[in-house]
Amino acid sequence: MSTVAFIGLGNMGGPMAANLIKAGFTVKVFDLVPAAMQTLAEQGALTANSACGAAAGADIVITMLPAGKHVRSLYVGDDNAKGLIDVVAAGTLLIDCSTIDADSARFVAKHAAEKELAFIDAPVSGGTAGAAAGTLTFICGGSDSAFEQAQGVLNAMGGNIFHAGAAGAGQVAKICNNMLLSVLMVATSESLQMGIDHGLDPQILSDIMKVSSGGNWTLDKYNPCPGVMESVPSSNGYQGGFMVDLMVKDLGLSQEAALLSNSSTPMGALARSLYVNHAKQGNGKRDFSSIFEQFAHSEQIKNKG
Ligand code: NAD
Repeated sequence: MSTVAFIGLGNMGGPMAANLIKAGFTVKVFDLVPAAMQTLAEQGALTANSACGAAAGADIVITMLPAGKHVRSLYVGDDNAKGLIDVVAAGTLLIDCSTIDADSARFVAKHAAEKELAFIDAPVSGGTAGAAAGTLTFICGGSDSAFEQAQGVLNAMGGNIFHAGAAGAGQVAKICNNMLLSVLMVATSESLQMGIDHGLDPQILSDIMKVSSGGNWTLDKYNPCPGVMESVPSSNGYQGGFMVDLMVKDLGLSQEAALLSNSSTPMGALARSLYVNHAKQGNGKRDFSSIFEQFAHSEQIKNKG
């Protein structure tokens, strides 16, 4: 079984690395937070003193980091530090699962290619629950051969694995999806609230819209109105799930991408403004379906939150 270096053991990376251990891979981990490494060590991972220390000698390197600047500096290095691509052996497959801008993914892919290393961007969908359950969707960009090579390790962490296109295409597809998701969440919230304002039961209204032309993923799986659906963040004080701060980050990436391609994305731009405002009101760490509260009346929030 291959040796995998896993760097970035946060909310997503920790459980993803744990699934690789369960699948029988030898996993060598590194994170800036020692406690995150300790948790994985207790599950059978080897630990390293640095990212380069984890990557040296690995067959596959996986990173799960906050943003593009972290991914660029870790892989390519700078005047003061070597990058991962300077220390890995020939033939090592590099997989970045972070959600970052497509340009950063292409930048790393280009530098990796100069050293004859294969790199794929493989952002994920499915959140922390999907990471823990090993049911993530991977949305990949890179060469056909690198995509094929990545199948085994990605299968150990997820269900659906897509090849969106060349380097950076995984990141573009991921932010297209999240921009659409944000718009659906906002539109579903305002529609439900308008029904409530007219005296409708949100449960009945949801059942109607689910099987009518307004049906969408948020109604099926993630209803934002408290009490309509069990086991979703709206029925748990909007705790857990996908944080507003992360949605703000993804919507920022979507608007940067729209500028670069001169694409018109009025709904995405509006959704970003709404989510930025929501975050500024102290909701950054709550689930993104809490945007529903922007439309609800304060009395309803007090009663149902
Ligand atoms: P997180 O902040 O919990 O984890 C990031 C980890 O990276 C931290 O443990 C941090 O210490 C580590 N780190 C940062 N710089 C490092 C470095 N140079 N070397 C080693 N470790 C370093 O974030 P997360 O929620 O796990 O998200 C990770 C990525 O996944 C983000 O790009 C996010 O947008 C994306 N994502 C998150 C979710 C989600 O629901 N949380 C869903 C889909 C995608």
